[in-house]
Amino acid sequence: MDVKDYIRTIPDYPKPGILFRDVTTLLSDARGFRKAVDALVQLHVGDAIDLVAGIEARGFILGGAVAHQLGKGFVPVRKKGKLPWETISQEYELEYGTDKVEIHKDAVFDGARVLLVDDLIATGGTAEAAVKLIGRAGGNVLGASFVIELPDLGGRSRLEAYDIEVLSLCSFE
Ligand code: IMP
Repeated sequence: MDVKDYIRTIPDYPKPGILFRDVTTLLSDARGFRKAVDALVQLHVGDAIDLVAGIEARGFILGGAVAHQLGKGFVPVRKKGKLPWETISQEYELEYGTDKVEIHKDAVFDGARVLLVDDLIATGGTAEAAVKLIGRAGGNVLGASFVIELPDLGGRSRLEAYDIEVLSLCSFE
């Protein structure tokens, strides 16, 4: 089976007309999880990066495993209000309204080369907010890798505008 075969599609979640791509079925399968993590690691082994950043919450599971395998530290990009120390935050647009992601002020050192990991890129708004946040903290996102890409929603070009290499393991048109 390919990575894509482990992903479950839930119709009409979180609202009518949306096909939600559910990675919990991939994560709970020993082979599926290993295949996905190994494939992400394979894309970046030997790359000149200092840190892996993952976006809450599924990006923690995948990014943490990738960081461990690459022998790098991990930076959690959290939803607002979750981090205990001083934070910087970045707002981003949702379909209705806005939300915020945050990191600790000292989460990345000046000039750190960062690989961003999440389960899925759709519009790229969440990943772009993480890129801006890491940039404001003094780091530089060089690559962004995802298990799933929804190419129709244009996230790739949004990140490529920052000169970021965007990679994904599979896509759903
Ligand atoms: P974007 O900001 O539009 O690119 O949406 C990506 C963010 O929303 C990621 O953090 C994803 O985890 C989440 N997301 C959006 N659509 C889905 C989906 O179909 N399955 C799982 N996560 C999704």
